[in-house]
Amino acid sequence: MTQKWDVVIVGGGLAGYVAANLLSRTNLSILLLEKGKSVGGRSRTNKMHNQYLNLGPHALNHKGIAKSILEELGITLNGKSPKLGGILIENNIEYAAPFSPLDLFTTNLLNWKERIEWISVLLKMMKINPEKLADQTFQQWAKDVTQSKKVESILYTLGRLATYCHAPELVSAKAVVSNLQIAMGGVLYLDGGWQMIVDQLHNKAIVSGVKVQSQTLVKKIKPIEQDEFKLILSTNEEILGKYVICTTGPHELNEMLIEEGNHEQNSEYDQITPVKGATLDIALTQLPNPKLLFAMGFSDPLYYSVHLHYARLSDDTTSVVLHVFKYHHPDEHIDGASVKTELEQFLDKLQPGWKQYVITKRFLPNITVNQRLPQIGDERWLNRLKTKIPGLYLAGDWASPNSILADGAVSSGKDAAEDLILYEKRKNSAN
Ligand SMILES: Cc1cc2nc3c(=O)[nH]c(=O)nc-3n(C[C@H](O)[C@H](O)[C@H](O)COP(=O)(O)OP(=O)(O)OC[C@H]3O[C@@H](n4cnc5c(N)ncnc54)[C@H](O)[C@@H]3O)c2cc1C
Repeated sequence: MTQKWDVVIVGGGLAGYVAANLLSRTNLSILLLEKGKSVGGRSRTNKMHNQYLNLGPHALNHKGIAKSILEELGITLNGKSPKLGGILIENNIEYAAPFSPLDLFTTNLLNWKERIEWISVLLKMMKINPEKLADQTFQQWAKDVTQSKKVESILYTLGRLATYCHAPELVSAKAVVSNLQIAMGGVLYLDGGWQMIVDQLHNKAIVSGVKVQSQTLVKKIKPIEQDEFKLILSTNEEILGKYVICTTGPHELNEMLIEEGNHEQNSEYDQITPVKGATLDIALTQLPNPKLLFAMGFSDPLYYSVHLHYARLSDDTTSVVLHVFKYHHPDEHIDGASVKTELEQFLDKLQPGWKQYVITKRFLPNITVNQRLPQIGDERWLNRLKTKIPGLYLAGDWASPNSILADGAVSSGKDAAEDLILYEKRKNSAN
């Protein structure tokens, strides 16, 4: 017998679970389908040799919308905030990163003129209304507000840290500056990793009556008539839903919507550029250089941070969990072996001899961090796409016009659920 549900949610990441939890407050029947063996999507944490490894470095914005929506849903977020400090590396030389007030005045990276310029740029960045930057790229804005090349480069480094985007000539200034303003409010490294969020969202959804089916890949989504969709699974089983919330990436969504023989259809989904990077996630028995907890490349798009210093990420009391990351440019050809060498050599500089202390490690050469590089004018076509197929709601970190990363995933999940509830209410009151 074909299963029939009021709402079918495709994807069991943050967006899907936030939507499921909000919808579970109504009397609609909800089915969540996840293709993976385990749920959580990119917010999963893998337990390897008693160490908890997020899929790359994960930090939750204190002042971001994800944190407030998750707290509204009753999710407990335990962890600590890393200090805004550490070093920047340029041509093998280490400089104090001018991110904290003390380092700003003492770092050798900047001369006095540059220091004053950097302070004034920082103040400008914190004060500006990002909406005013909607028609500029981050590079155009950075060149506008800086005179010194060094100060311009610091902006790009901070921009990468806050957004993972490494394409200042493409990314919108509005997106980067608004994320920088939020990130300046600090971040949280979470105890137990981001799996803690996933587990709580999952348990709450189940208790509220949501049915979750993992290892279930949706192959096609077909609108049949008003308020009726047919979902075809990879097993060819069919599921009917009055409404669908799709939280997969845009390319997967495109594949699901394409009708046989019409590959041009919906091709706008395929033109969305993802934000990608390479991550080396490592647990060590000890740090050769225990004081060094955070570093970034200045011109090289590299990142290093010891997450376990702030969050509980191990069952052992003495081990250390850290992440080394490379931000990819969208046009870059990725050679996994050479990226791995580059990340390992970066760590050699920071923690010489680290290899002898490895408990476990994992290298992912080209992982999608955000499904959409935010560009000028995205809001317009995103809002158009969202209403294109009535009854099909889009969510996921690419689908929010105003946010990216977890903020985008969580807020778009909430928006999709609220839009659906409103539509259902209006329909019922009209009948
Ligand atoms: C290395 C890295 C570092 C990051 N760091 C941060 C950070 O510091 N701060 C921050 O805020 N965010 C960060 N993020 C981003 C954050 O993890 C994501 O934005 C968020 O997890 C996305 O959630 P989502 O629900 O939109 O998508 P996903 O988590 O990708 O969930 C989508 C789900 O859909 C499933 N799916 C796909 N296709 C199908 C199908 N056909 N049928 C059924 N199921 C399907 C997938 O398996 C997946 O589980 C980082 C991500 C990475 C990879």
